[in-house]
Amino acid sequence: MNLILMGLPGAGKGTQAEQISETYGIPHISTGDMFRLAIKEGTELGKKAKSFMDQGALVPDEVTIGIVKDRLKKDDCQNGFLLDGFPRTIAQAEALNVLLDEMDNQIDHVIHISVPEEKLVERLSGRRVCPTCGRAYHVLYNPPVKEGICDSDGTELVQRDDDKPETVANRLSVNVEQTQPLLDFYKAKGDLVTINGDRAIDQVFSDIKKHL
Ligand code: ADP
Ligand code: ADP
Repeated sequence: MNLILMGLPGAGKGTQAEQISETYGIPHISTGDMFRLAIKEGTELGKKAKSFMDQGALVPDEVTIGIVKDRLKKDDCQNGFLLDGFPRTIAQAEALNVLLDEMDNQIDHVIHISVPEEKLVERLSGRRVCPTCGRAYHVLYNPPVKEGICDSDGTELVQRDDDKPETVANRLSVNVEQTQPLLDFYKAKGDLVTINGDRAIDQVFSDIKKHL
């Protein structure tokens, strides 16, 4: 099963991806996580991505498409994969189609998690993440058992640099602009389902499962 998760920053893609990946046994591929890891490790890719991410802008298509191509060719993707945060532009969606055609493969479902824009600022500003495993929490809506500490591995949680107020507004507007054409693209292909993401995490997941 090959899936794409779409939604604005803060819609709950990463949160749902974690559960989908575990339930269906497919790897969770997040371009944002891949860029953050590259920055942490100080690689060439990290250097290329950092200045864009710091401003809440998109990393250029050729860089992003390159890393996804390499990732989808790995063995663990042969029985399915879950893309989170990719594609974010029409050029990326078209490149993905070409790649999947070459691999004699296709996307089975595109799940759009929809949340009213005004709720997203609050979700993003309260988000805390584990720098070790990448798991996301929320100070109010999804707190860890012990305040400030990751339930999975005990690491101290941090706030992402791009979740600080000065970056959030720009990220949202960049993404709002890019999202509608992409939704139209997948709607035209008949692959798209929109899920109401403005409910409890478990309810959203249960809807996704029903669809799959
Ligand atoms: P969120 O979880 O808030 O939606 P991500 O972790 O997916 O954010 O992305 C963080 C940042 O990484 C983006 O603001 C952008 O700079 C970069 N990025 C991630 N995915 C892509 C992509 N498909 N195309 C371009 N830039 C991307
Ligand atoms: P995305 O990957 O789309 O940017 P995340 O999964 O990181 O979104 O979620 C953004 C923030 O909102 C996190 O702090 C997360 O704990 C919280 N969150 C996720 N889903 C919900 C939900 N259904 N209701 C309330 N808060 C949520």
